[in-house]
Amino acid sequence: MNATAPVRSWGLPGPFPHRLLQPASLDEVRLPVDDSWLPHGLGRSYGDVALNPGHTLLCTRWLDRYVSFDAATGLLECEAGLPLERIVDDLLPRGWFPAVVPGTLQVTVGGAIANDVHGKNHHAMGSFGDHVARFTLQRSDGSVLACSPTENPPWFAATIGGLGLTGLVTRAQLRLRPVASGWMRVAVQRFRGLDAFFALNAQAEAKHEYAVAWIDCLSGADGLRGVMLAGDHAEPAPGAPRFPPRPRRASVPFTPPMSLVTPWSLRAFNSAYFHRAPERAELLQPVWDYFWPLDRLADWNRIYGPRGLLQFQCVLPPAGAEAGVRELLRLLRAAGAGSFLAVLKTFGARPARGLLSFARAGLTLALDFPDTPRMRSLFAQLDACVAAAGGALYPAKDAAGSPALFRSAYPRWGEFQRYRDPGVASAFARRMEAA
Ligand SMILES: Cc1cc2nc3c(=O)[nH]c(=O)nc-3n(C[C@H](O)[C@H](O)[C@H](O)COP(=O)(O)OP(=O)(O)OC[C@H]3O[C@@H](n4cnc5c(N)ncnc54)[C@H](O)[C@@H]3O)c2cc1C
Repeated sequence: MNATAPVRSWGLPGPFPHRLLQPASLDEVRLPVDDSWLPHGLGRSYGDVALNPGHTLLCTRWLDRYVSFDAATGLLECEAGLPLERIVDDLLPRGWFPAVVPGTLQVTVGGAIANDVHGKNHHAMGSFGDHVARFTLQRSDGSVLACSPTENPPWFAATIGGLGLTGLVTRAQLRLRPVASGWMRVAVQRFRGLDAFFALNAQAEAKHEYAVAWIDCLSGADGLRGVMLAGDHAEPAPGAPRFPPRPRRASVPFTPPMSLVTPWSLRAFNSAYFHRAPERAELLQPVWDYFWPLDRLADWNRIYGPRGLLQFQCVLPPAGAEAGVRELLRLLRAAGAGSFLAVLKTFGARPARGLLSFARAGLTLALDFPDTPRMRSLFAQLDACVAAAGGALYPAKDAAGSPALFRSAYPRWGEFQRYRDPGVASAFARRMEAA
């Protein structure tokens, strides 16, 4: 079905008018010749990488069929609009799990490839693209390319993390990993101060597959306190079901007229979260609780009101990480800017497969803020700090970063141009080329 409709991103206020193409099957896919177009998955990117206002979005929502699954090796072939949630629902009970999962399952395979998404196990497993064996890419000129490390390798490298700009991924083969159950053994430990984070994180990465810290950046020593959550797939407790069912989902039914995220609600939430966590404990948790607590509340982004939210996620290279993050935290404290969903973790020193992949060795900090003029000016300061440390912003989350920072952080952007589909465009690409 073709239609014109307003489309939002996960963070930006919008909505923005788009012409929508919604093919019901791969046979129905006709790439537009009269307008620029962009693949669009479930729209879970916060900024403008999945938007093409005034032009066409090719929605992959109905391109969501399984093609094959080899239960001996875990090799899954599917259409690129298949959400990770369906893969986990269908294949976790058979003992298989995606090798890398982001903080929401409401993400399509195509979207996960195009942003080369990362999880809490980058130090052990790399990013999503590391587990993609092959995909097919349909381009505006009518060509269909099979891409893998050995077939059309430059298009493979350009499309992983390629922000949808190389064409439409139609089908993909993913290597899933076996798991014993739907449970995680989680080592929980509270900490105060950045030095404590670095010490705990080093231990957690040496011992555990997954490691992430939730932080409250307006409190404690260094203005920081947090909870380290290090995890591994585990056997269930005696008597517990091997595969606990996905919990029911509540939802935020409407967008309130103003943001419910205020300095007061932030302090109350962060304090409650910190004090609810045990000082130190080992727990068994269903995968749902460890990986995707936010998925329990559909449309949670509505609590930020009609103006939406800005997400800031950067990575700072190891050499500049400690000084850089101290400066970022200082700027946040000076502005009195806290975040509900602040996360600190490290990426391992694994070479990325994608020309434009975000995840690279270093320390990554992710924060959410209400989108206000004051926060936008704070973002300019955070940007400058990331640039000085030689870091990068994550395009999947970015709505306010500067083209200059993007170009310095993604030096292969020039080489990437050779593989772009000339029919494809996005608001993000226009913004980065505006300089
Ligand atoms: C609550 C929440 C938590 C998150 N946690 C994480 C996290 O831990 N780690 C992380 O890395 N990300 C995280 N994200 C971001 C999210 O994983 C990415 O933005 C992801 O790419 C969204 O997938 P999507 O299917 O919604 O794609 P969209 O947002 O619709 O599109 C994303 C990009 O993919 C392109 N694209 C989509 N489908 C195709 C296709 N078939 N072929 C070619 N290109 C395509 C689009 O053009 C666009 O450039 C999170 C997002 C949310 C809302």
